[in-house]
Amino acid sequence: MKKLSTFVIAGLVMLCLGYLAGLSRVTVTPRAEASPAVAAATASTVLAMADRISPVKPRARDFYAPNSEPLGRSEMRLIACGTGMPTARPKQAASCWLLELGNGDKFLFDVGTGSAERIAATQIPYNYLDKVFLSHLHTDHFGDLASVFVGGALAGRQKPLRVWGPSGATPEWGTEYAVDHLRKMLSWDLAGRKGLTDDRGYHFEVNEFDYRGVNVIVYQDNGVTIRSWPAIHALDGAVSFSLEWKGLKFVFGGDTYPNKWYMEYAKDADLAIHECFVTVPQMIDKFQFTPQSALAVGTQIHTAPEAFGKVMSLIKPRMAVAYHFFNDYDTVSEIEKGIRSTYDGPLSLATDYMVWNITKDAVRTRMMVIDEDVWPPPATEKPQPPDTSRRIPYSKMIAGGRYDMSDIIQPIYDAVNEQYGLDEKQEE
Ligand SMILES: [Zn+2]
Ligand SMILES: [Zn+2]
Repeated sequence: MKKLSTFVIAGLVMLCLGYLAGLSRVTVTPRAEASPAVAAATASTVLAMADRISPVKPRARDFYAPNSEPLGRSEMRLIACGTGMPTARPKQAASCWLLELGNGDKFLFDVGTGSAERIAATQIPYNYLDKVFLSHLHTDHFGDLASVFVGGALAGRQKPLRVWGPSGATPEWGTEYAVDHLRKMLSWDLAGRKGLTDDRGYHFEVNEFDYRGVNVIVYQDNGVTIRSWPAIHALDGAVSFSLEWKGLKFVFGGDTYPNKWYMEYAKDADLAIHECFVTVPQMIDKFQFTPQSALAVGTQIHTAPEAFGKVMSLIKPRMAVAYHFFNDYDTVSEIEKGIRSTYDGPLSLATDYMVWNITKDAVRTRMMVIDEDVWPPPATEKPQPPDTSRRIPYSKMIAGGRYDMSDIIQPIYDAVNEQYGLDEKQEE
């Protein structure tokens, strides 16, 4: 009886303290004789109550704002920068995944069509975004490589863009060939930039590996190991990846028909991404595919939702992530129904800007809020002034078409020369 009344009185005191703290936001100092742990717990309980009911203090966020949260030493953060289809749309770019580790390393897995602007939304300095791993060479998985390459170099990546990707059954179906010809496609672009900006970033470093390698290491540095195994998709040459670091395992499955290697090497993943395609009726009704194409593409070249569920039931990740479908109010329930017919574990139906924080203890899923007016984040390395001798001149004919604006441009030169102690001159 005595014990009970003590509890009741203590409870009433706590309620009053909480109420008072809420009203006046006075920090309650626990009694001096209380043990430090109890004192801290009491204080935090009261403060938590005050936070929850205060009309002026912020509550804990349930969204992710870029550039606002440190990453724990043993924590991973994954940001979906593209989750949709080859036909990119405002709501969903094509496949792109940005993985950040607590040691500062950052990796891009795929850079599909439309993903460059999602990458910009993360507000990560471009010098940190120099490693890209490609699952295969469909445009919805590497269509924005040129944008990341040029845009990144222009905005602060003062080093080559490093690309890892699979070989193909013939040399011209491999990553080296694709990147080499992408560089050729950019001949005019790159020549026109010579002598205008720091050009150290306008280079690729390609690491092509054998697509037939089964769970082979393709990258190992700074405690991070990335492995590759084959996928079955469209042609020989598609792959999937795992990344292991500090006892955490992240798996990124590229496009594939369900395959035995993923079943084996994606096991025990803390987070496993696997494609999950639009349903066949959706392909016919919404994408205007013929029934023949819808069946072939939706179930044989890709993974149908029911098959995605089966894959996840077999590998049992701490979090299963489905992507490669248009995630809409009128289509997602069909996709989920298919998945849930074969899988009842933890599931994220990915859409762009979804964010996962992964630790040993928990996988937290949120959405990122974005600033539409974002500018490039601060360069981590000072850009060098351009070597103007590398500038390729116009022909006489084109240069002769310049309408003389030198008198109205000159004040801009004068102001900058004075502010920065320079002696820059207009082009002749
Ligand atoms: Zn594909
Ligand atoms: Zn794809």
